[in-house]
Amino acid sequence: MSHPMNECSDIGTVYLVGAGPGDPDLLTLRAARLVMNAKILVHDGLVDPSILELARQGTRMISVAKRRAHHTMPQEEINALLIREALAGHDVVRLKGGDPFIFGRGGEEAEACRAAGVPVEVVPGISAAMGAAAAAQIPLTHREGASIVTFVAGQCKGLTEQDWVGLAGKDRTLVIYMGVKTAPQIAEKLMADGLAPDVPVAVVENAARSDMRVLRTALAGLPDLVIRAKVKSPALIIIGDVTAREDSVLAAVALEAIP
Ligand code: SAH
Repeated sequence: MSHPMNECSDIGTVYLVGAGPGDPDLLTLRAARLVMNAKILVHDGLVDPSILELARQGTRMISVAKRRAHHTMPQEEINALLIREALAGHDVVRLKGGDPFIFGRGGEEAEACRAAGVPVEVVPGISAAMGAAAAAQIPLTHREGASIVTFVAGQCKGLTEQDWVGLAGKDRTLVIYMGVKTAPQIAEKLMADGLAPDVPVAVVENAARSDMRVLRTALAGLPDLVIRAKVKSPALIIIGDVTAREDSVLAAVALEAIP
């Protein structure tokens, strides 16, 4: 490969690698090379199995997604695992869904590694927003519809206290990650902030995967849509006029088709 893994130092390198939204074709070349050459690969639950299959036989695959009682491994344990392996002289490929630095806690892992004297390289990935936008043909910006785009987390502590005023509305696109469960509170919050109930919304479930669904509604109908269509994570909620452009409408599943 063009950048050989760190073989001469006593300490291994931790590669924080973005796996994109699911389709292996959406990996960067750098990410694909690192996965294919990995000796130790640490991954979370969002990484599509077809990407893990690119690893060669004999790669130590460590899932930090789900353990007993479906609890994810605490972040401190993940940090400790990466550091332990690197200090033992192993390069570690830490594969994350989408981009490591967009709601992926990549920042925390990079900080912990650096604090422990472990070299880190970050490989960007296609974040869910870009993957979903492309697959559903929803342009996140458009000269006739949106000159601002914002990514927010919909499942944070204190969602009601977060200030989203002005992030959605005319000429802007709001992309909400992790918002399926909190969809009713999100719709309520945005309307309380003054957003019109008829602002168009798209929900993109399993973006860039074979089972992708694109559902459209108006803001006021979002909670009902999530229930009726049984929307499951991972899904993104995209709010703004760009979701109602002709291309995205053609790419959407008609809500009437849902029983
Ligand atoms: N680092 C990731 C985001 C991790 S947070 C990235 O850059 O994409 C997890 C959230 O990302 C999910 O709750 C969902 O909102 C979104 N997400 C990730 N993959 C997705 C996919 N294939 N389709 C739709 N949403 C996705």
